[in-house]
Amino acid sequence: MPPAKHAGMITPTGRKMLKCPLRSISPVISISKESMAVLADLQARDHDLDQLRARLGRIPEEAAGLREGLEGDKARAEEMKAQGKKLQLERKEKEVELATKEETVRKHQRELNEVKSNEAFKALQREIDLAKEGAGKIEEEVLLLMERVDESLRKEKEEAKRIEGLRQEVERKVGDLAAEGERIREDLAKKTSEREEIASRIAPETLKQYLQIRARKGGLALVPVRNGTCGGCNMKLIPQAIVEVKKGTQIVLCDGCQRILHLV
Ligand SMILES: [Zn+2]
Repeated sequence: MPPAKHAGMITPTGRKMLKCPLRSISPVISISKESMAVLADLQARDHDLDQLRARLGRIPEEAAGLREGLEGDKARAEEMKAQGKKLQLERKEKEVELATKEETVRKHQRELNEVKSNEAFKALQREIDLAKEGAGKIEEEVLLLMERVDESLRKEKEEAKRIEGLRQEVERKVGDLAAEGERIREDLAKKTSEREEIASRIAPETLKQYLQIRARKGGLALVPVRNGTCGGCNMKLIPQAIVEVKKGTQIVLCDGCQRILHLV
């Protein structure tokens, strides 16, 4: 597209392109192809450092997540244990109830020998039958509760074993994360000083421009030109911009995303 067609057009960023459709910096910042290569190297290193810092930043969160998961499981196990204790208590109460009923039966049976009338005998026998029936029901309940207590104890044991395994696993993982964090910190220190050395080879004005764009664009300041389009925003570049980038004597910005264009 000839540059003239761009005159007076509104760009995607809303900026009016008047006389000069080529988005170069005013005043023009000169740069050599070699310096551009150094800048590309710097960006690759900055990207690497960004990744390392991001990973390092996620480590405490990951460790906390693992610990929280374990605490959640522990709390559920405690709840299960409390339920089990409640069942045991219920069983004991039922056993006392059963013993009382059985005692009632025995007492009435002793009294049978002392009754004088047939009527009283029959009435007492009815009492005994009722107490026996009640005791039978309670006994069933006790048996059922015993089964439930056994089941709950079995589950409790299983859960305790599982949680111990989980605790060891979490401990190992948290340890691995701490070691990873340590490695990243060492890597960061080494790579940061290497990065500083690279940055010192770049002209302050260029470096400033790069850092400003990097801050504004969240990392990517330098983008390649691919098939006549910007590798950052995919906008078709005007031929004049491509010519200038190819010349490699000055910093040329993409008109769409305001990033530094370079050839790869
Ligand atoms: Zn762009």
